[in-house]
Amino acid sequence: MSQRIYLSPPHMGGDELTFVQEAFATNWLSSVGPNLNAFEAEMEAYLGRPCVALGSGTAAIHLGLRLLGVGPGDEVVAPSLTFAATINPAVYQGATPVFVDSERTSWNLDPELLAELLAARAKTGKMPKAVVVVHLFGQTADMRRLREVCGRHDVPIFEDAAEALGADYEGTKAGALAPLAALSFNGNKIITTTGGGMLVAESRAAVEKVRFWSTQARDPGIAYEHSELGYNYRMSNVLAGIGRGQLQVLDERVAARRRIAFRYRERFATLGLEGLELMPQAPWGKHTNWLSVFTVDEAALGCSRDAIIDALGKQDIEARPVWKPMHLQKLYGSCAMIGGAVAEDLFARGVCLPSGSSLTDDEQDRVVDTIARIARERGRA
Ligand SMILES: *Cc1c(COP(=O)(O)O)cnc(C)c1O
Repeated sequence: MSQRIYLSPPHMGGDELTFVQEAFATNWLSSVGPNLNAFEAEMEAYLGRPCVALGSGTAAIHLGLRLLGVGPGDEVVAPSLTFAATINPAVYQGATPVFVDSERTSWNLDPELLAELLAARAKTGKMPKAVVVVHLFGQTADMRRLREVCGRHDVPIFEDAAEALGADYEGTKAGALAPLAALSFNGNKIITTTGGGMLVAESRAAVEKVRFWSTQARDPGIAYEHSELGYNYRMSNVLAGIGRGQLQVLDERVAARRRIAFRYRERFATLGLEGLELMPQAPWGKHTNWLSVFTVDEAALGCSRDAIIDALGKQDIEARPVWKPMHLQKLYGSCAMIGGAVAEDLFARGVCLPSGSSLTDDEQDRVVDTIARIARERGRA
């Protein structure tokens, strides 16, 4: 009996439990404590920017958009090809999403289409309040062009780096590419706290404001007095301990994910499987390949993307299509959308293969062999 192979399961490093035990031993079992301070300081040392640890990446995006003043009547721009948590917080704030297609070099927000949208909005006199840039599947967006385009119209960029911790753009790390950024430590991400996130900011005052909002916005003093709206969004000191252990092994996790993606590519080539193409590796930075994503050319391979997912499922192997674009969702189908052909094509043909950093070569060979078998069978039929 072989074990189920998951898409991207948690992978502990070793010291997590020590930090968690310290939290228990010292009774710091709530939303303050040494692990929280240390996790934030250690991430600050890694990214070069102050950070505040929160309950989720979604919470980080929410409070980041609030810092940018996003509110009712505002538009917030985001790529259509992303996970819903990129844009849901704009709606929490009462804003209206506007979606833009991806480019083919990195699968991220297309700067040329964004330029068209912003030029059109400039004629109306009302600009979007923010552009949320996503670094999809571990690869940074075309930041230079995106900064130029947004800078021309003074529209702030918010970085959704939830999938891209460990990636870089021209030597600068994802999470430090815009004045505000969100990280995620959800269970499927490259490192995890079981659930959690961080808001990263250029300005320490911004981080302090978010820390204040995330702990119910209680005014200084012993009485429960409030002059601003708060949230219960803080990470716990126990989970911050897991984060500390995970951050120690981040570089190893990045190396493992990259190795897995390139090994899939090499195995497919060795087996003569045509029609499976690894997600592009854009020239401007290091792609972590958080997920190993391939596009399927059905005519060349002999079987469809869905046939692959189905065949893997029957072998107890988890694979998924790429994110369903936001403009195709029931929830967001009526929002404005600029372009869409690229996101639709990648959604139709893209498959995320098991990518966990703990995946063994034997397990990966099980995935590869299953794909090779279904391609041979279908190709013959
Ligand atoms: C995971 C993810 C988020 C949300 O992070 P959580 O920590 O799960 O709330 C946001 N955006 C993208 C692109 C993600 O993949």
